[in-house]
Amino acid sequence: MTKFSDLELDPRVLQAVVESGYETPTPIQAQAIPPALRGQDVLGIAQTGTGKTAGFTLPMITLLGQGRARARMPRSLVLAPTRELAAQVAESFDKYAKYTKLTKALLIGGVSFGDQDKLIDRGVDVLIATPGRLLDHFERGKLLLTGVQIMVVDEADRMLDMGFIPDIERIFQMTPKTRQTLFFSATMAPEIERITNAFLNNPAKIEVARQATANTSIEQKLFAFSPTRKDRSFTEKRAVLRALIKAEGEALTNAIVFCNRKMDVDVVAKSLKAHGFHAAPIHGDLDQSVRTKTLDEFRDGALRLLIASDVAARGLDIPAVSHVFNFDVPSHPEDYVHRIGRTGRAGRLGKAFSISVPADDKYLAAIEHLVKAQIPRAALPAGALDDASDNSDRSRGGSSRSASSGRGGSGRGPRGSVLPSARGDVKPRDVMPVIETTEPDEPTLVQPAPSRASQDRPTTERPPRQSADRSSPTERRPELRPDHRADHRSESRSDSRSDSRSDRPYRSSYPGQYERVVGMGDHVPDFILRSFRVPEPTPDEDEGENNAA
Ligand code: AMP
Repeated sequence: MTKFSDLELDPRVLQAVVESGYETPTPIQAQAIPPALRGQDVLGIAQTGTGKTAGFTLPMITLLGQGRARARMPRSLVLAPTRELAAQVAESFDKYAKYTKLTKALLIGGVSFGDQDKLIDRGVDVLIATPGRLLDHFERGKLLLTGVQIMVVDEADRMLDMGFIPDIERIFQMTPKTRQTLFFSATMAPEIERITNAFLNNPAKIEVARQATANTSIEQKLFAFSPTRKDRSFTEKRAVLRALIKAEGEALTNAIVFCNRKMDVDVVAKSLKAHGFHAAPIHGDLDQSVRTKTLDEFRDGALRLLIASDVAARGLDIPAVSHVFNFDVPSHPEDYVHRIGRTGRAGRLGKAFSISVPADDKYLAAIEHLVKAQIPRAALPAGALDDASDNSDRSRGGSSRSASSGRGGSGRGPRGSVLPSARGDVKPRDVMPVIETTEPDEPTLVQPAPSRASQDRPTTERPPRQSADRSSPTERRPELRPDHRADHRSESRSDSRSDSRSDRPYRSSYPGQYERVVGMGDHVPDFILRSFRVPEPTPDEDEGENNAA
């Protein structure tokens, strides 16, 4: 087995690695570090949790050990899709470079341009940035990329989802052709392949096993149920979530609860808080300072439940997460792999519980196809839906919820008749009473409105990812909206139940499930992409979906 000492790393780097407590290199490290140290390009197909950050940081520090940075001309560049990931790479860099004199700057939104400019002016060895913020600095004339010797693109697949590929191509073109490129992606979508063919030079290709298929330290369970009515789905899922959390008791030290959409992240977090749980949301519309504070609290153990969108939580390195809940089944199967990979890390055991309703069946099929296994089905905890029923009866007179429920007319039976079927222990799914009403889980700010018949299909009601070239003038003006592009692009992607990507590897296996539906196009007013402020619900008022909508 390869040892770190076999890898010809700088002794100062080795010392820092030893102090990190790592005994042996992970497969991606063992395979990526030698070619990287030889100066070869590397194409790593690996996900977070595989140790890929050290896989590129350790050789970078070793290679940059010699030489000095010049003003405004960083010697290396790491691009990460989100602020959190960029900050995490910066932390790793600090950890592994602590015995060297290398300097770094982190260019992310939420930090003043002035402070970042000062660092760049002084000259840095390593520049770690999100693509939008980097280009903003470049456009302000504060940065030259002609001195970049090593460029890292981390989580390229997520960059693709977020519409960063044109930015990445632009940045590649601004760096010298002689640079060394270390490129990491969890999947090799055709667009990613195109970029690697264009910008990487005879790379060493390294692929490490998917976590979900390889990782047996995660106990997965699927809690499938049929909501009593379609428009009760969100409320009843929240009740199920609470029941699952309660059923786990003290075994649940902390958990990440994933929702597909930002607005649901807010509602679920507020609902849990209103029910006495210690929960906080994290998604791209929150201020960076709030996001950082929330994550710090979660890492420190002060916060028990982190309610998150995919993008906000992707790649976050929080070693001890006892549980992951998929409040929503992700519509992109690889997100399932990423999500459950937040638990069961660093040799610990973890639990990944997913809640599903019949509308999720097609996404479940895609997930199970991807992970090549069936997620074990489990029964809901006894009485899981009693709570939801109680709430539903404490209706908020005159609320939009009541109105929407009412629209359905007579579909709802008396309380007692609903509950047994909702538990799934009496009626099969297809005899559930279904009321034709506005589905509150669907975004409503859409044009043209989809027909009812299309509601169970994936849609692109949310705009498809936007290319940087088409971003609005406001987006391109850093003084107005520094570095918010990433979040909007990313969250709009993760919020949608599906998108128009034709590059999904599983697409061909699931014809018809990922059909392209034309939505609003790329020119979406900024405000539409923002989540809505939802008033703090009390337990009595835990009827969030209509608020959110
Ligand atoms: P990453 O995939 O880079 O997000 O890393 C995932 C986690 O693995 C982080 O918590 C790292 O600190 C940890 N890690 C990285 N390399 C090793 C190693 N060789 N041995 C043990 N843990 C590691």
